[in-house]
Amino acid sequence: MDLSETPGQQAFRLEARDWLEANKPPLPMPPGDTADGFPVHRDWERRLFEGGWAVVSWPREFGGRDASLWEWLIFEEEYYRAGLPQRVAQNGIFLLAPTLFEFGTEDQRSRILRRMAAVEDLWCQGWSEPDAGSDLAGIKSRATRDEEAGGWRLSGQKTWTTRGAFCSHLFGLFRTDPEAERHHGMTYFLVDLASAGVTVRPVDKLDGDAGFAEVFFDDVFVGDDDVLGGVNEGWNVAMATTGSERGLTLRSPGRFGAVVDRLVDLYRRKDALGLIDDPALRAEVAGCWMEAEAYRLATAMTVTRLSAGHRMGPESSLNKVWWSEMDIHLHETALRLLGDDADLEGPWLKGFQFALSGPIYAGTNEIQRNVIAERVLGLPRR
Ligand SMILES: Cc1cc2nc3c(=O)[nH]c(=O)nc-3n(C[C@H](O)[C@H](O)[C@H](O)COP(=O)(O)OP(=O)(O)OC[C@H]3O[C@@H](n4cnc5c(N)ncnc54)[C@H](O)[C@@H]3O)c2cc1C
Repeated sequence: MDLSETPGQQAFRLEARDWLEANKPPLPMPPGDTADGFPVHRDWERRLFEGGWAVVSWPREFGGRDASLWEWLIFEEEYYRAGLPQRVAQNGIFLLAPTLFEFGTEDQRSRILRRMAAVEDLWCQGWSEPDAGSDLAGIKSRATRDEEAGGWRLSGQKTWTTRGAFCSHLFGLFRTDPEAERHHGMTYFLVDLASAGVTVRPVDKLDGDAGFAEVFFDDVFVGDDDVLGGVNEGWNVAMATTGSERGLTLRSPGRFGAVVDRLVDLYRRKDALGLIDDPALRAEVAGCWMEAEAYRLATAMTVTRLSAGHRMGPESSLNKVWWSEMDIHLHETALRLLGDDADLEGPWLKGFQFALSGPIYAGTNEIQRNVIAERVLGLPRR
């Protein structure tokens, strides 16, 4: 595998870097999960779209630049290197969009993708329920057929819906065949949250920001053209989404590369002031850098395989355990370096709080380890 950049990739990197430097908003931005902060993020992401940088690897007709996955990785590196935050549009562009490219109809793609990239519509993920998180096949929210109206009536409750309080649309799983066994008989629906019968109730995160919502459905109508991938085929379609969530798109190496660069910088600054009294910290920081670099190289291997036509399989679970545990390690090391200087509102502590949720969302790491044991290593099922 030759990882050196082609002249075209180098030019792409420089173009992205120059554009981001010239157009980025004042930093740090306010948190995206607050009533005041959300519009600031939305406006910034619209600017990104207008500049042609929102979804570089998508086809031009949907607002992309037809860039390769390699160029997407380069863009992500430049984005995070510029100090920019995680995107409020992430669950649409990184989770739903790849699923739409794989399973969507032409009509769905043309109705949804461009508006999603332009942050005119903001999508959230409606999978978890109060009694179905790890056991996603245990969902009880249901969709019943309304033949006369040509669609479905949704009822039930979703929970932990990230950014649900600010989103306009939801991609969700609902049971369409109550007789079917667990993984069968569920369907993937695309729902406009402005529909009659939807109630969204914000839920605060650990840091007090309204990062979650509970979403209630009371006889909500959804047309047949908003079924993604076929009636009763929802589990299959959802597994494609999890491949993106755990695997390539949600957490690119650029994000962790930027964190580790800040960590190394923090160490240097502290050391220059003679403030490091624990020699083990030096090795810890070097270890963090190696982890982030190894993740970058492992992702390059994944991109090589995907570019050759392979699909992301259960090995996306390896990826998910890796990025989520690494994120905690990087932030914990920074907090050790900061000691009493850790600022309660500062980026390291906020980042640490968010990192703690990494082993839970996108499927808990215990579940990922089950997947790795059974489907990657072929160990017996328990
Ligand atoms: C920051 C964050 C964002 C989220 N965003 C969304 C979102 O946008 N949309 C959405 O639908 N959901 C979202 N979730 C919910 C998330 O998917 C669930 O929290 C997760 O799947 C776990 O489900 P649970 O909370 O019900 O825990 P449970 O499933 O009750 O699990 C409790 C504990 O038991 C362990 N456990 C359960 N079953 C097994 C098993 N078979 N083997 C070993 N251990 C097991 C789990 O690993 C966990 O430690 C989010 C969660 C967080 C923290």
